[in-house]
Amino acid sequence: MSKSNTPNTQSIAQSTEPTIKPTKPTIHSHSLEAIRHYLHQYPELSGQETETADYIAEQLQSLAPDQLIRGLGGTGVAAIFDSGKAGKTLLFRCELDALPIQSIHDKPYRSTRAGIAHQCGHDGHMAIILGLAQAIANSRPKRGRVVILFQPAEETGEGARAVVNDPQFSQIAPDESFALHNLPQQPLGEVIIRAGTFNCASRGLLIRLKGRTAHAAYPETGISPQLALAELLQAFSELPEQLKQEQSENEHGLIMVTVVHCDMGEATFGTSPADACLMVTLRTETDAAMQLLADASVALVNATATKYHLQSRVEWSDIFDASVNDEGCVKQVIDAAETHGHHVRVIDKPFRWSEDFGAISAVSRGAMFAFGAGEDCPQIHNPDYVFADELITQGRDIFFEIYRQLL
Ligand SMILES: [Zn+2]
Ligand SMILES: [Zn+2]
Repeated sequence: MSKSNTPNTQSIAQSTEPTIKPTKPTIHSHSLEAIRHYLHQYPELSGQETETADYIAEQLQSLAPDQLIRGLGGTGVAAIFDSGKAGKTLLFRCELDALPIQSIHDKPYRSTRAGIAHQCGHDGHMAIILGLAQAIANSRPKRGRVVILFQPAEETGEGARAVVNDPQFSQIAPDESFALHNLPQQPLGEVIIRAGTFNCASRGLLIRLKGRTAHAAYPETGISPQLALAELLQAFSELPEQLKQEQSENEHGLIMVTVVHCDMGEATFGTSPADACLMVTLRTETDAAMQLLADASVALVNATATKYHLQSRVEWSDIFDASVNDEGCVKQVIDAAETHGHHVRVIDKPFRWSEDFGAISAVSRGAMFAFGAGEDCPQIHNPDYVFADELITQGRDIFFEIYRQLL
């Protein structure tokens, strides 16, 4: 789940000497929980997951897949189990990356790296998918193929897109793709899903305004971004409503803008400022609405800068497409979850947070579901969040059931 789209990261300096001696567990001799705890001790940031990828590749290789692909979209790893017979290609995906957060839980397996931790539970998702790979290795597909994908850099929104754009992805070409994300504050093991948009599209817009400094006694001799910044702060809060009125009602669902940061001039009383910076996060239910909102935002910045004789520049980052669930794949998830006795809750609106699985479900049919992590579990990205180990075998069993029914 993307960091820019969940409430915030705290950083607390603390010594993180491991209290247990690290041993490298293997899929053949250790439990999936032990593997999760090992991964938790050695977290790596988005795009830098080299050790994690090496470890995962080693474990997958020991399961003798028909093909192992490395370096997908950076550090991504995929194992393919191929029946050699015609049939669908199914893909199950998880994420390799951790977050720049100092965890504060007191588990013996806490992160050994200061300021980096698996505070989104991707270590748990990896244990689930590794367990699934093991189950599939012991019960190989009778037709079609199954792909086990460990993608890099989910938190920045770059990983899944990089995987899909990697030339090696043509060897994968899934027909149907599945993923889950654990979700705190929901009943443990509850499966939450819907057809259509499951996670909203979002993107970050950074705006720079440039004028000219002046002596604070003679501000009229410079060009201050003050009024432009004030106008933009107001205008961005009104933009979603304006767009909804211009477009027919409810055509695009949710459209929102969150002002996340602004900054102007230097902290000195003698100078009238030249520079201002404003950061906003745009969020919509559909990719089409995102295009409208992005275009309207840039037009607003340009018009405001021109009005106040400022130069302006915009930069985009953390770009997530909407993650859209296919109706048939959603039904598969529901059937598999109910087979294993999980309560399934079908929601009527998408989650506002973003997930880069949207890049994968854009090139195949797909479904992502949220997996309740317990009502008392702190929110992901919080420093005291801990992944619920009970979900590991439960998640593996739901995915295996989907596999069993489809291949
Ligand atoms: Zn996540
Ligand atoms: Zn996250």
